Amino acid sequence: MKNNKKCNFCNTIKSIKEFHKDRTAADKHTARCIHCTKLYYKNYYYKKSSKQPYFPYKSLKDPKYIKDKMDLFRESGNGWWWIDKSRNQGRYKPKRG
Ligand SMILES: [Zn+2]
Repeated sequence: MKNNKKCNFCNTIKSIKEFHKDRTAADKHTARCIHCTKLYYKNYYYKKSSKQPYFPYKSLKDPKYIKDKMDLFRESGNGWWWIDKSRNQGRYKPKRG
């Protein structure tokens, strides 16, 4: 049994322990290493184009979060959960004027 495997994402040869198990795969391990799998899912949910971190606050009780939320809510009326104000996110724009 091979103890090393090349990750097809970062192209690095790593120990087989660095790969998640996958019963459906030929060698019983995923093609992507654990590290890359984590990165992949992180990027999947995290909008890279956004300059701000996905959730730049300590917690939901962070005063900054509450303040920013209320500011955004007051300004746009909806979509306050999106940090990026410039994008419409496919939702209807509140009518102005
Ligand atoms: Zn990798």
